[in-house]
Amino acid sequence: MPGTETAGAGQLGPTGRPLPDFPEPPPLRGHGPARVIAMCNQKGGVGKTTSTINLGAALAEYGRKVLLVDFDPQGALSVGLGIRTHELETTIYNLLVERGHDIRDIVQRTRTENLDLVPANIDLSAAEVQLVGEVAREQILSRVLRPVLEDYDVILIDCQPSLGLLTVNALTAAHGVIIPLECEFFAMRGVALLIDTIDKITDRLNPGLHMDGILATMYDGRTLHSKEVVRSVVDHFGDQVFHTVISRTVKFPDATLAAEPITSYASTHGAAEAYRQLARELIARGGAA
Ligand code: ADP
Ligand code: MG
Repeated sequence: MPGTETAGAGQLGPTGRPLPDFPEPPPLRGHGPARVIAMCNQKGGVGKTTSTINLGAALAEYGRKVLLVDFDPQGALSVGLGIRTHELETTIYNLLVERGHDIRDIVQRTRTENLDLVPANIDLSAAEVQLVGEVAREQILSRVLRPVLEDYDVILIDCQPSLGLLTVNALTAAHGVIIPLECEFFAMRGVALLIDTIDKITDRLNPGLHMDGILATMYDGRTLHSKEVVRSVVDHFGDQVFHTVISRTVKFPDATLAAEPITSYASTHGAAEAYRQLARELIARGGAA
């Protein structure tokens, strides 16, 4: 089936390793404190935003309370959840650069239960320059998120495609980082620099930062090329690579147009199941409650 990369537990998965069984997570008895995860890759078009929406929605389906933070001035995450970003008066930008705002006034509900959003729009593009002169400029997002940590189980930050100050803020606020990688020839280009940045932040700003995993996206199981890319990523990064692989399917752009997560737009499609499996794998790894 297109868009599906299903193998039974124990069989070889698309990453060439035996696929473990990722059990359905038990319901949570209470909520919080949140584990904060940055979705990060300075390359654009690798599936950061798509993975933020759909991993978030899948975790929400499992009863986790999830907050998504749009941290890209393009606002694709917000648009992908049906927000008219140009009409917004207050966004993450205001939380970062002005005093006296409460994040709870800016959080928006989405149409998906348990899934909330802190939106962004093009205003955020000014923040990078404005924050440069601030005291503790790398810790601003961390401070902004603090009041809602107890309200959520997982907070996912959709980073912009750069390693600038906004991304440094995301990595400083995070407990974990997920790196989506597109399955194409140059996928690994730039990853060394990204890992170097993560190492520096771990060293200097956020000793608790953990590499939650590398996620292969836009996989096409019909091509040898996709398979080779995934195998080489696994050769390089070993167990850091998620067993779950996200296939290339037009259902993702379709779901974006419908402003819905794939888990509700095409609930039974293999692509929705893939993000559910990713949610279970992340929980099994301890990357989420
Ligand atoms: P990023 O946030 O890293 O820039 P996006 O998640 O916005 O990347 O994805 C870039 C484009 O590719 C979008 O148009 C999105 O709909 C599409 N896309 C993302 N994941 C897939 C996939 N698995 N299959 C097909 N298209 C995808
Ligand atoms: Mg994006």
